[in-house]
Amino acid sequence: MCLEGIAEEAKACMKCDLGAGRHKTVPGEGPCDAEILLVGEAPGAEEDLSGRPFVGRAGKVLDRALAQAMLDRSKIFITSIIKCRPPGNRKPKVWEIEECIPLLQAQMGAIKPRAIGLMGNVAAKAVLGLEGVAGLHGQVFQDRYVITYHPAAILRRRELQEDLVSDLKKLKELSLSRK
Ligand code: SF4
Repeated sequence: MCLEGIAEEAKACMKCDLGAGRHKTVPGEGPCDAEILLVGEAPGAEEDLSGRPFVGRAGKVLDRALAQAMLDRSKIFITSIIKCRPPGNRKPKVWEIEECIPLLQAQMGAIKPRAIGLMGNVAAKAVLGLEGVAGLHGQVFQDRYVITYHPAAILRRRELQEDLVSDLKKLKELSLSRK
C-alpha cells in the first residue's frame, strides 16, 4: 500500500476510542524511500493540532539530536506507534496499540527502511517485545532495529541527550552498512 493510502486510512480510522478525541490524526511524514524510519510513542498536543509528528518540545529535542548526528530530518520517515493523541498524553493502552500497529506495519512494508529507530519503551515493547531502554539502547536487534530514548525523556533528563545522539549515529551507520 502506498504511504498516501495508509495516511488516508489513518485519518478515517475509528478503530479505537482515541479516534473520537483527536483534532487530527498524525500518520507520520517523510519520503517513501527513506532509509531510516523513526518510531515514537504517540502524538502530543501540538502534533494533534498540526497533524505532524514531533513538532512540539520533544520535536525540538529530536531536531537538535538529528543535527548533532548529522542526519537530515527531511530524508527520514518519522511516525509513532499510535497515530491519535491519548488524552492528557497518557500512555497508550495495550488494545489501542493492537488496533493501531497494523498502520505502522503497513508503513514499514511500504518504505522498507534499512534501519529503524525505536524511541522509548512503548515503541520497543510494541515492535520487539523488549523493555528497559536504559539497558538496551544503542544495541542492534534483528540487523535493523536500534532502541533509543524517547526525545520527551530528554526534557526530564538532559544528560541523556548524548546517548540519543550516539544511538542516532548508530542508526545512520546501520543504514549505510546495509546499502
Ligand atoms: S489511534 Fe490508531 S487505531 Fe486508534 S483511531 Fe487512531 S488511527 Fe485508529
